[in-house]
Amino acid sequence: MTQDEYNAFVDALLSAELHQFKDWEKVPYFDGCLPIEVMAERGRETLRFGPMKPVGLTNPRDPLVKAYAIVQLRQDNALGSLWNMVGFQTKMKYGVQAEIFRMIPGLQNAQFARLGGLHRNTFLNSPKVLGGDLRLKADPRLRFAGQVTGVEGYVESAAIGLMAGRMAAGDFHGKPLEAPPETTAMGALINHITGGHIEAEGYSGARSFQPMNVNFGLFPAIAIAKPEGIARWKSVDKTRAKRKAITTRALTDMMSWA
Ligand SMILES: Cc1cc2nc3c(=O)[nH]c(=O)nc-3n(C[C@H](O)[C@H](O)[C@H](O)COP(=O)(O)OP(=O)(O)OC[C@H]3O[C@@H](n4cnc5c(N)ncnc54)[C@H](O)[C@@H]3O)c2cc1C
Repeated sequence: MTQDEYNAFVDALLSAELHQFKDWEKVPYFDGCLPIEVMAERGRETLRFGPMKPVGLTNPRDPLVKAYAIVQLRQDNALGSLWNMVGFQTKMKYGVQAEIFRMIPGLQNAQFARLGGLHRNTFLNSPKVLGGDLRLKADPRLRFAGQVTGVEGYVESAAIGLMAGRMAAGDFHGKPLEAPPETTAMGALINHITGGHIEAEGYSGARSFQPMNVNFGLFPAIAIAKPEGIARWKSVDKTRAKRKAITTRALTDMMSWA
């Protein structure tokens, strides 16, 4: 988008008719996936620094002309007939969505197979109610798995499901299974949801505890030494080295756990 196209798009978002939620549907937004019109309300530039950030792309028509804002399409099926607009959650009314999204250059004639909606995760306040073995403290016959435990994402949900299943099988066979160490991705996740999360001051747990993707911030810190012969260690190289050290440690610890 050019600057004019972007400004017209933001104006359209700001004046769009929204879906009205019932009182019981009103929930605080997860900052990781705000509706685009809420981002537009926060500031004219917010989208340009969020899902529409024009960075890391070369303009195929003229490499010297930088886009003012971009929209990413992610291919959704092998046929190439469905494309998903990345980061475009919205609660705008359906009719308005098609009208506004056709303002995006290239999408003037797009057909919309599925319109945007907000998804709401319903999840337990796991740090309070689940034990480290994913059992409900109040009724240990029950074990929880997947997104309902407060993780987010395919891999994360599957990882918690795998652990819950193996723990249940271990109990059944009289060989209880410990969770993987917290230095592994699976261990870091389960540790976060069942104990590692710290409640933010002034929040009741349910609001402070929000769905979690796996990320390097969940792993215990690791000390690394600056390589010899380097006067100044660039922070990008240091981050890369730290991540390499964390993943190497994770693989070693996962293998001995397995
Ligand atoms: C629009 C959208 C886009 C997403 N994009 C991504 C992405 O790009 N990458 C990513 O990693 N994650 C993404 N996610 C998140 C990901 O889809 C979920 O984290 C993951 O699918 C959760 O898996 P799950 O098995 O724990 O739960 P679910 O997949 O929600 O499975 C729960 C199942 O339980 C069933 N169920 C519920 N109640 C009952 C009941 N009472 N009786 C019987 N069955 C019941 C439901 O019908 C459902 O089939 C996205 C989610 C949404 C909504």
